[in-house]
Amino acid sequence: MPTAKSDAFVFFGATGDLAYKQIFPALQALVKDGKLDMPVIGIARSGWDVDQLRKRAEDSLKEHGGVDQAAFAKLSKQMQYLDGDYGDAQTYEKLRKALGDAQHPLHYLAIPPSMFVPVVKGLAASGCSLGARVIVEKPFGRDLQSARALNRTLHRFFHEHDIFRIDHYLGKEPVQNLLYFRFANSLLEPIWNRDHIASMQITMAEDFGVQGRGRFYDEVGAIRDVVQNHMFQVLALLAMGPPANRSADAMRDEKLRLFRSMRPLRAEDIVRGQFDGYLKEPGVAKNSTVETFAALRIHMDTWRWSGVPFFIRAGKQLPVKCTEVLVRLKNPPQQVFDDPSNGAVNHFRFRLNPDVIISLGALVKEPGEAMKGHPVELVAHRHIRTAMAPYERLLGDAIDGDSALFTRDDCVEEAWRVIDPILGDKVPVHKYKPGSWGPGQADALIAEAGGWNDPRVETVARGGR
Ligand code: NDP
Repeated sequence: MPTAKSDAFVFFGATGDLAYKQIFPALQALVKDGKLDMPVIGIARSGWDVDQLRKRAEDSLKEHGGVDQAAFAKLSKQMQYLDGDYGDAQTYEKLRKALGDAQHPLHYLAIPPSMFVPVVKGLAASGCSLGARVIVEKPFGRDLQSARALNRTLHRFFHEHDIFRIDHYLGKEPVQNLLYFRFANSLLEPIWNRDHIASMQITMAEDFGVQGRGRFYDEVGAIRDVVQNHMFQVLALLAMGPPANRSADAMRDEKLRLFRSMRPLRAEDIVRGQFDGYLKEPGVAKNSTVETFAALRIHMDTWRWSGVPFFIRAGKQLPVKCTEVLVRLKNPPQQVFDDPSNGAVNHFRFRLNPDVIISLGALVKEPGEAMKGHPVELVAHRHIRTAMAPYERLLGDAIDGDSALFTRDDCVEEAWRVIDPILGDKVPVHKYKPGSWGPGQADALIAEAGGWNDPRVETVARGGR
């Protein structure tokens, strides 16, 4: 088990979109912080040389965060480019040579999922997997069966503790803050249960469409793209019990316990939608029934959460770009004041994107004789930009062998177990207008819990029980 820091960084997919948008900026930041003092080897089949890779990195940095001359010069020197097809054994022979005497290379599979298995096998057959770690991009499988099969293949060649399944949501500062706020304070735990909490909802809204990635998106859809992974991870951080200690496995044990408590989804727990105009997107099948919107109701069979519904909604072409959690507390047991606003539910709001907010919603009395109130938000934390980009944090952790922010085999399979029954066309897909909140059926799903919150409005509608 290599506990040592990695000593070579290999990234498959060097010429791809993800490398351009995320990986080069993360690599420059890691070099700047002194965390990436090792060969950086990019592999693709574009017939490039290392100068073209450097140029691509520079272009990427100009567009995403800026070039830091000193750090970029250092990164450029560390860079190598290997050209070759991932299906060709010679590619891995070249890599074996390029790795020289590196003992613990880190192989990052920033490539289409169909290439995960051929690359892992190529690494193993050439000896490049010895002492190595591997980072696997999302999506991890298309359903329970394929996720299990991928885990089996990975385990043939790598120990579980050397496999880093990326979910970049876990590297986001506000997501980390969610975990921190829950377990660094004592005020939440006494009320964080079915006695005090009426419901929780997570909204991940995007005010844009598939942005030219229609071909990719049409094979995936909202549930596979963001619900099974990102939204479930946020849900786990919201609902899991306190980890026994700070180890990566203690955290992941609690997540696993939570995922295991989740009932498999039934058709009546989900609404799928597709925005008008999706079928005209380049790369999308003319008769596609892939969802660009999903709303789900989740039940957990635990003492803590018995009877408390959890809702997730995620979609494209919605009115706003925002990811937000709203935790509704139950109403006071008695209506003490003769005031229509009395009984409006208290809530916690965790906004994760685009700004970061942690706040508590409450009622305060309006000045005057009448015992009338109005809602306010007590903002505990608010800021615009996050300190460290998720990919920088995650790649840095993988280099150090710290897997706390990566998904474990059993957790990923449990998440698929919950989702599996409703994948595909088991429930119909309803059309919705771009700029709306998705199909009307999604409102019915959550009606009894007070409805969806509009993240644009900082005053939350009543709705606790
Ligand atoms: P791209 O299609 O843009 O890039 C694919 C890369 O893989 C290219 O470098 C391509 O090389 C290389 N490649 C593919 N097949 C072969 C082969 N047979 N031999 C050699 N090289 C090959 O994909 P993305 O960068 O968009 O995505 C990569 C991964 O990251 C995917 O798993 C995706 O789901 C994930 N991801 C992507 C995000 C994004 O915003 N793009 C966001 C989150 C995750 P060449 O160009 O030389 O053909």
